[in-house]
Order: sequence, then structure tokens, then C-alpha cells
Amino acid sequence: MHQEFPDESICPEFRAVEPKSQLLIFHERWPMLTLTILGTSAALPSNGRFNVAFVIQVRDTTFLIESGPNILHQLQMAEIDPCRVQYLFISHIHGDHVLGFPLLILHRVFAPCDDPLIVICPDVIIGDLKQMVASVYPEISSHLEKHCRFVPHPSTTRCSVDIDPGITVSTIPVIHGVPTLALRLDCSGKSIVYSADTAPSQNMHQFAAGSDILIHDANFSATLDPIIELVDHSTARAAAEIARAAEAKTLILIHLHKKYAGQEQLFYQEAASIFSGRIIVPTHISTLVLT
Ligand SMILES: [Zn+2]
Ligand SMILES: [Zn+2]
Repeated sequence: MHQEFPDESICPEFRAVEPKSQLLIFHERWPMLTLTILGTSAALPSNGRFNVAFVIQVRDTTFLIESGPNILHQLQMAEIDPCRVQYLFISHIHGDHVLGFPLLILHRVFAPCDDPLIVICPDVIIGDLKQMVASVYPEISSHLEKHCRFVPHPSTTRCSVDIDPGITVSTIPVIHGVPTLALRLDCSGKSIVYSADTAPSQNMHQFAAGSDILIHDANFSATLDPIIELVDHSTARAAAEIARAAEAKTLILIHLHKKYAGQEQLFYQEAASIFSGRIIVPTHISTLVLT
């Protein structure tokens, strides 16, 4: 199923936060862009996988992508202090992407963290996120505005905003059962694109064009399930076709359904039959560096 969306740029006003002094130390130790994968499973985790989440470190700016139910544990395992996270991107409202959000806010309040968490997400889910915190931790919901600032991105159109100097955040709608945004981060000629949960989308061809890393939904295998109808998710083959069309350098396959536990090699082979660039099917917490 393919779906096209208008290519407009209706974006919210954006106000960046000042980096904290401790992050300058971090800047000296780390190269330009680091991707730490915290989880790669679909909604129901399997084979030791956590739900999809990752951290992108761009110089002294830290992005967390998704906040599933175990997100604090995932950050702890990767030795990343949640207070260091300045930006959180949430692609859509499904539980494997948001159920840890109230816990991130709880940590923010009690740590306490110095700066508010800036949450970039589809405009239509902000009310649900606020309600989630109010429902499960009503005693801290009055602190939400102090510890969290929402940046709504349009759920039906493309949007690009410049945040910290030299970093551009872009989003575009993809094809899923609920409003869902894919993400692109560009910095100093390097780029990471994340498809979020999506059926094969023509939008991704242009959106991921020339990306250094394309992280794409591979919920299914076309080899093992050749007649599966792709309504909400993609196969490894479909992800590879998008990586090839976009001329991405590296393809990372994530959001693997639990029924394929232990068959990661097959996903690699399926993608490699289409895409000649580097392919990674991560199973555990891992780090990739772009210099
Ligand atoms: Zn999901
Ligand atoms: Zn989903």
C-alpha cells in the first residue's frame, strides 16, 4: 500500500536550550555523531530484545528516540543518564513507543534534571501524552510544564526545523494504523533517518535520500511470509528496496516480530539480495559512530 502526502512545511516555532557545562566534557570525548541502539523489538519483545529505542548524540546534543515501557532500564544498561537527554522524539502513540514516557517525566522531577525535556511528536498525540502522565502519576502532573516542553510536528505534512546550530530535524508522515512520523536528523553533512512503524512508503524514498544511516521497520520477512499484506509494517525486503532507492549507505533493520526470534541472519540475507550497502540487524544494545 502506498500513500502520498503533501510536501508542505508548516512547522512550529522552535527555541533551543542552552547546553549544560557537563555536556562540554562529553563533547571532547565523543566524535561528531554517535548512534546507540537501545532496543529493536516489535511491540512484544523477544529473544532478549527491548522495544525499539535509540540515542543519537550529535556533538553535545542528545536525542532519545521513542520511550517504550523499559526505557529507563535501557538507558541505564547503556550507561546514559536520562538527565542528559535534551530531546525526545516520539513517532506515534502505540504503547511500545510511549509507555515509558511517564517514567521519564517521573525521573525528570525527582532526579531532578536541570532542563526541561523537549518532546518532538505528532501534534495529535500531545493531549494523550499529558493525560497519560496525569492518569498514572497525578501527583506530578502539575510539574509537567516545568519539566517538559512539547514541540508539535504536523501529522499530515512534511516539516523541517533547525534546532541547535547546524542540526536540522525533519519529520514526514508514514503509513501506520495511527498518525505516525518518520524522523531525519542532519548535521554537518551526516544524516540519520528513522522510518518509525510503517508500511512501505513512497515518501521514504525522497526523505531518506543520501542518508548515511537508514533505520527502517522490518517487522516481517518476505522470505518466511511471502504473501503477507503490508498494511502497517514492512518486510526486510521492502526496507532494502527503500534503502536502495534512497541510496542510503547503511541500513539497520528494526522492529522485528517476535515470531522470527533467532532468525536475524535470514533478515540480513533477505535485505542483502536487494541492497548492496552495509546492513545491520542488531540484537542487543550496540553503538555506531559516524566521524
Ligand atoms: Zn511499534
Ligand atoms: Zn506502531
